[in-house]
Amino acid sequence: RAGRTHKDMKLTTIGCGYLGATHAACMAELGHHVLGVDVDAEKVARLRDGDVPFFEPGLADVLRRNIDAGRLQFTTDYHEVAAFGSVHFLGVGTPQQQRGHAADTGHVEAAIDSLTPLLRGQHLIIGKSTVPVGTAASLAQRIAVLAAPGSDVELAWSPEFLREGFAVEDTLEPDRLVLGTDPQRADSIAEQVVAEVYREVLESGTPFIRTDWATAELVKVAANAFLATKISFINAVSEVCEIVDADVSTLADAIGYDQRIGRKFLNAGVGFGGGCLPKDIRAFMARAEELGANQALRFLREVDAVNMRRRGALVDLVADACGGEVLGTNIAMLGAAFKPESDDVRDSPALNVAGQLALRGAPVTVFDPKAMDNSRRMYPMLRYAESASDACEQADVVVVATEWAEFVHMAPEELTPVVRNRVIVDGRRCLDPGMWRSAGWTYSAIGGATRD
Ligand code: NAD
Repeated sequence: RAGRTHKDMKLTTIGCGYLGATHAACMAELGHHVLGVDVDAEKVARLRDGDVPFFEPGLADVLRRNIDAGRLQFTTDYHEVAAFGSVHFLGVGTPQQQRGHAADTGHVEAAIDSLTPLLRGQHLIIGKSTVPVGTAASLAQRIAVLAAPGSDVELAWSPEFLREGFAVEDTLEPDRLVLGTDPQRADSIAEQVVAEVYREVLESGTPFIRTDWATAELVKVAANAFLATKISFINAVSEVCEIVDADVSTLADAIGYDQRIGRKFLNAGVGFGGGCLPKDIRAFMARAEELGANQALRFLREVDAVNMRRRGALVDLVADACGGEVLGTNIAMLGAAFKPESDDVRDSPALNVAGQLALRGAPVTVFDPKAMDNSRRMYPMLRYAESASDACEQADVVVVATEWAEFVHMAPEELTPVVRNRVIVDGRRCLDPGMWRSAGWTYSAIGGATRD
């Protein structure tokens, strides 16, 4: 990368999943020396070999380039982390609790407990995981108890906004950088250190928002709650469109031209999923209630409910396309990842729908360009095919549930010879209805009418 002038720093990243591995590689790309740590030895072994354990466009190149340059290493040993450097990014998972809607902060606490007692001298831990408001304050108390005498360990929070599928770009060219620090701490070094770590990024004009812990924690969950609300808004409107035969896609275009609204995140379809939006809105609601703001986020229940209802709506639409009953009907499910350009199947609408159809007695055959291994692990009872056309072999209905470009641009003529019935259901409103209809297919889309 051209124009690098800052002194290279020694950084660690704790947790090497989607967030952590991307962050480690991108920090090395900025010229720093980086050591990533994870408790998953298999993941660490793969990363050491330059092998990204998940699909993320462009990440493998960045990873390998920086490993080869000697700037990027991985370990399972926290002693190495403590000895390596004095700035530590924390990006372990914060999944939904097994029971209830709140976030499970156990991994974040475990990481702090593993690292803190090993630190000597002055260190800065920068939390990046998405956490309930108040987590940084309680972790700081934990650090105060666990820190070795004479050491000085500061905690800051800088939430991560990357999108899977654009993770490298979003890390190196973020829309903004948010940094929350301890409002009680007069001698904070966090702002100066973060400005140094991200010098090149900030020099390109990235907004840098400096605030307190609570605001920084809330920025992240508020952003995700807003995005989820936008998607559920258009999906709720689509429920009305379905009744009156109106076209929600045209409606979205029309309202999207209003610059106060904007077109992004207004695609009606089978709804959102993945490892972030669903669990983040639930955790936000749960935390607000814990804090006594019982009414504040109740609308997010409706956002969640609208979203989950779309999965049932797609199942019903497929049943309609089968003549009312899916039992014994061959269904080809194109798409398994929660969105294109990702292999992430956490809370994936596509797999949820595939699972529901299978439970109703339909033989369902799934194909996804990148998410086959993850899908097989999570839904072993479904059948899996090697290609879209294999999945469609003898299909009575073809369902598109993830808008991969390969499906969006698929030609009806490719599938016509292999299917049993020319029936296609568009769960993302991403296909060209005119093209499918003129090729003799029966086309229907979730969310109501579509104009050719
Ligand atoms: P992930 O499950 O892919 O990765 C988490 C990693 O942490 C795993 O590799 C796990 O083995 C490791 N880990 C768990 N406990 C550990 C410990 N004690 N020490 C070291 N490693 C440990 O999850 P993710 O998608 O990378 O998400 C991580 C955090 O980032 C979450 O809070 C998530 O909400 C947030 N986030 C994710 C994204 C995204 O697009 N994936 C975007 C923004 C924010």
